Amino acid sequence: MKKKICVLFVLLLSLTLFGYSQEGLKVFISVDMEGVCGVVHWEDVSRSGKDYGLFRRLMTEETNAAIEGALAAGATEILVRDSHGSARNILPDLLHPSAELIRDWAYSPLSMMEGIDETFDAVIFIGYHARANTPDATLDHTMSSSAVYEVTLNGKKMPEAGINAFIAGNFRVPVVLVAGDKAICQQVTELFGEVETVAVKEGIGNAAKMLHPKKAQELIKKKTTEALNRVSDFKPFTFTPPYTMDVTFRDEWRAEDASWFPGAKRKTSTTVSYTSNDWMDVLRFFKFAF
Ligand SMILES: [Zn+2]
Repeated sequence: MKKKICVLFVLLLSLTLFGYSQEGLKVFISVDMEGVCGVVHWEDVSRSGKDYGLFRRLMTEETNAAIEGALAAGATEILVRDSHGSARNILPDLLHPSAELIRDWAYSPLSMMEGIDETFDAVIFIGYHARANTPDATLDHTMSSSAVYEVTLNGKKMPEAGINAFIAGNFRVPVVLVAGDKAICQQVTELFGEVETVAVKEGIGNAAKMLHPKKAQELIKKKTTEALNRVSDFKPFTFTPPYTMDVTFRDEWRAEDASWFPGAKRKTSTTVSYTSNDWMDVLRFFKFAF
């Protein structure tokens, strides 16, 4: 009898240590395109670009790598949000059948995080890129490739990954892994502290040195499993309210336009500021700012 209890104890302990606790994970994956391995130019990520077909396949394959990594860690529900341009890039028939996909824009303030809620355990960003005006970064921009110069939230400079992590954070869901170029990996590490990253390429001015796409996908799969196996180590990305978002535009007229949002204040000729205790109000301002 004593021996049986001992065996049971060891079994329970090993289940807890080696994956049992991860069973039933619900994972949200937001996928952008500029940070996918191979991509260096706007043509690569535009529907009219000659090589767009190749890069949307690679975007789909990187997403599949994250899905396979999540399944290996015990994920049972995976939602993929196509977050780039038209939001109709990922090839639905090539996407891993274990995942569901959100295509096109709903035009809600959740934007690149459409579908997220408090029932998820972890968020993953694939194909992400650095904030606007980052040196040695591939296709760096913040939400708009032409309108926005800089976005700050409570004084911190935000890449899209920061704004999207803030959305997830308000649902108490942490970002556990970010894949993209080296510059975004550095920016999210500075912002979030604990986060797994996969740098699939490194910017050299406008050029980039990159891994082979298959190698990048192997790393994404491996690191996703590792991150989800220690999901409790990651904390939701939040700020203490009130929340203040400053948006600096490249053109003065956009600041004039945004300053008419109820409650918004114009700080300089090109910067408009908005403060609220309600994080969704801040997202509303951001949605209507440009
Ligand atoms: Zn994009």
